[in-house]
Amino acid sequence: MKKLIMAIILTSFICLFPAVAPSAPSAADGVSVLTYRLNSDITGTDRQFSFVHITDLHLGEGFDDYGTSGYDDSPPAGDVGAPAVALRNSVNWINANCQKSKIKFVIITGDITDSAEKSEFLKAKEILDSLSVPYVPMLGNHDVWPYTASAGTQFPVGDRYFSEVFGSQFDKLKDLLPGWDDGTRSTPIWNGEADSASSADAGCVSYFQNFAFDYAGYHFICSDFTTRNFAINGKGSMPEGDLFDSSKCQGTWPWFKHHFNSYPHKASKNMLMFSHQPFFPLPVVNFDSIEYGTITGFLGFGDNGDFSGVCVGGHIHLDREYYILDSSTEVCPAVWTGANKDGTGHLRVVEVWGKTANNYSWLVIVLGVSLFALLTVLFIERRRRRRITTYCRETSEVE
Ligand SMILES: [Zn+2]
Repeated sequence: MKKLIMAIILTSFICLFPAVAPSAPSAADGVSVLTYRLNSDITGTDRQFSFVHITDLHLGEGFDDYGTSGYDDSPPAGDVGAPAVALRNSVNWINANCQKSKIKFVIITGDITDSAEKSEFLKAKEILDSLSVPYVPMLGNHDVWPYTASAGTQFPVGDRYFSEVFGSQFDKLKDLLPGWDDGTRSTPIWNGEADSASSADAGCVSYFQNFAFDYAGYHFICSDFTTRNFAINGKGSMPEGDLFDSSKCQGTWPWFKHHFNSYPHKASKNMLMFSHQPFFPLPVVNFDSIEYGTITGFLGFGDNGDFSGVCVGGHIHLDREYYILDSSTEVCPAVWTGANKDGTGHLRVVEVWGKTANNYSWLVIVLGVSLFALLTVLFIERRRRRRITTYCRETSEVE
C-alpha cells in the first residue's frame, strides 16, 4: 500500500513539472517587441501560454542575386544582409525570453524571402533552426515566384522550393504540435488562375500551403491566399490575396471553409486564423471587396463569430489591431504585425488568456478512491476483530 501511494505521488510530480528548457543566449539589443492579449477581456481568465508572431523577413532584400549564382542556388556563409541580421536578433530575443514569457512556438506568416531564391529560403531556415522553440513557416507573395535580377522561372514554383527546404521542419511539427493536419500542403492542385511569365491564366499545379494544428484547446488554421499571378513589373508575383474558389481553381477557400466547419472541438473564441494577406479589403494589394465580403459573410454566419478568436496577418508591413465587421457587427478581432526586417528585428508576443484547467482533478479522484478503499479495509478489519472478541467472550462465558 505504501509503495502504491509513493508511486502515485512521484508520477504526479513528474507530470506536473515541465522539462528543463535549454540555456538561453543573451538578448539582442534593439528588437522591437509588441504584445497582444488574446481573450484577456473575458472574466476569470489569466495568461496560459504565449506564441510569437513574426512576418515579412524578406531574406535577400537588397541583393541582385543572393548566395551563389542563380535562383536555384546555395546560401552565403554567415548572416549576410540586414534582414538576416534582424532575423538573428529576433531569434536571440525569443530564445532569451521564451521561459519568462511562456513562449511555446513561433508562427511566421510569409514573405520569408525577398525573391523566392532557394538560397534565401535556406538562409532563413538556417537561422530559424537555432530557435529553442518550434517554428511554423508560412508562404507569402514574395515566396512564390523565384527570380534574380537576370533570370527567373516561367511559372510560380516557389511553393515547391518552400516545401523542399522546410520539409524536414514540417516532419518535426507533425510530432511536436498536437492534432497536426497537413491540409493541402503536399497535394498538387490544378490552378487555372496562375499565370506563366509570358501568359495570363496559363495555369500550373500549385501546392497551397494550408495546414492546421492544436495547442492547449486552441485551433490554429494557417491558410495560403497568396496569388500566383505574375507581377506587372515583370519580376515575381503580384501582391494581392486570392481565395482560389473559382471554376479555374478550387484551392484555399474551399479547404478553409470545410476545415473550419468540420473541426469537432470548436469552443468560444478558440479558432485562430493565420494568413500572409490579412483579412482586410485593399484592391490590387490585398483582397478585393467581393473576396472580403465572402470572408466577412463566412465569419458572420451562424456561430462562426463566437468561435473566432483572432485573425493574424502580415504583408502590409504595419502594426494594427481592429475588428472584422459583418454588416457593422463585430465578428472577429484582427491583428497585423509589421515586417521583421524593418529596424533591427520586430515581433509580437501573443499572450493567450484562458481559464486555468484543473490539472489536479485526476489526482483528487485517484486519492479519493484510494482513501475510500483504505477506509473500507479498516472498517472490515475492525468488524472482524469485534466479531472475534465477541466470540471469545461468549465462549469463555459458556465454559
Ligand atoms: Zn512583405
